[in-house]
Amino acid sequence: MTLAERARRVIPGGVNSGQRSIPGFTDLVIARTRGSRFWDQHGREFTDYHAAFGPAVLGHNDPDVAAATAEAGTTLALAGVGVTEAEVALAEELTALVPSLEKVLLTSTGSEATFHALRVARAATGRDLVVKFQGCYHGWHDAVSLNVISAPERVGTKDPTSTGILAPVLDATLVLPFNDPEAVRRVFAEHGRDIAAVILEPVPHNVGALLPTDTFLRTLREECTKAGTVLVFDEVITGFRHGLGGYQEICGITPDLTTLGKAIANGAPIGALGGRADLMDLFSTRPGGPAFFAGTYNGHPQVVAAALATLRKLREEPVHEHIYRLGARARDGLAALYRELDVPAVVTGFGSVFVTYFMDGPAPLTYDDLLANDAARFIGVRRALTDHGIFELPLNLKRSHVSYAHTDDDIDRLLEATAKAVRTVLA
Ligand code: PLP
Repeated sequence: MTLAERARRVIPGGVNSGQRSIPGFTDLVIARTRGSRFWDQHGREFTDYHAAFGPAVLGHNDPDVAAATAEAGTTLALAGVGVTEAEVALAEELTALVPSLEKVLLTSTGSEATFHALRVARAATGRDLVVKFQGCYHGWHDAVSLNVISAPERVGTKDPTSTGILAPVLDATLVLPFNDPEAVRRVFAEHGRDIAAVILEPVPHNVGALLPTDTFLRTLREECTKAGTVLVFDEVITGFRHGLGGYQEICGITPDLTTLGKAIANGAPIGALGGRADLMDLFSTRPGGPAFFAGTYNGHPQVVAAALATLRKLREEPVHEHIYRLGARARDGLAALYRELDVPAVVTGFGSVFVTYFMDGPAPLTYDDLLANDAARFIGVRRALTDHGIFELPLNLKRSHVSYAHTDDDIDRLLEATAKAVRTVLA
């Protein structure tokens, strides 16, 4: 029996997270990772642009992060009482770096961070409704488990990503199209006094990359301020990958709350929720407090050590310069390649993130625009890429990432391999 078969006998679906089991790759067993690479159980080497859905901003097994984690593992275990010096240092660093963060709490995942953002927004406002946007993903919990990658006929309706969610929870989440200021004004005109929070990925990377318009973000900020609604930027992907201050520093719009995760600790399990002190102070340290916040593993010493080591490297080394440059090289090279091959393609992204949609331009602004993407070709090219040792997740609309461990040679190989893969798919 293969390892994957053994896995399927004892693990539902054979994997421990949705979307780790990919059609055509259900027997994939990851044996080893290093830098920009991973190896499967047969010793096949892949240059990895999936990056574990984004956390590995420095590359896998970064030696400085690994050393810090190992050191913490031998000196400081989780005590589950009080606070550690490292947690204080991390909170000080996060609040100094990210504009909206006056106070911050650590979680173990991004989903917990977005869960608590909505809980405290409801606690602060005494309102029920939450607004999210079609195509944005904020984790697995009920209030946000709808309208991520919806089939065309489900767009514009409530489209839960799971069964088992209470109807009133789904009813309390309103879904709007991204980048549509008019829809935002309309929903506030109708429901403004009942909306506790608006949550969005400032760049919806869960569907590749939709770049927000300035008007859209400004309208959100204005309408939330007017209505007393809590504006939440979910920067779980964009935070620390696009810059030390997150996308909010880049766009110049400050949300009330921010959720973070992934790149903070280069792959160690962490999330964070921070923002206005008056909101964050509603979290009490005792059960039954104004808003309750807890987690056995929050602030785990090895994870906090990984985060401090990651942030130190992001601050002290030209990480962002490097990943932005290689990201631009990938996008420019791919765009030139598709032009040369005369294949309709929109190559877009931001910083270290790139994605090719197989459709005619211009760059998409809304989820509706993405419905023009040729999903079969999108997946087909990525499958063919694996034959050339390149791994971009072969699932529709998924983005790819460059890390600090990728090199110019890696980008050359990506471009060469893509040319071959596209020719195979089109043949
Ligand atoms: N928010 C965004 C934007 C994400 O992309 C994700 C995960 O992909 C989450 C929240 C949830 O984070 P986690 O998987 O750590 O729970």
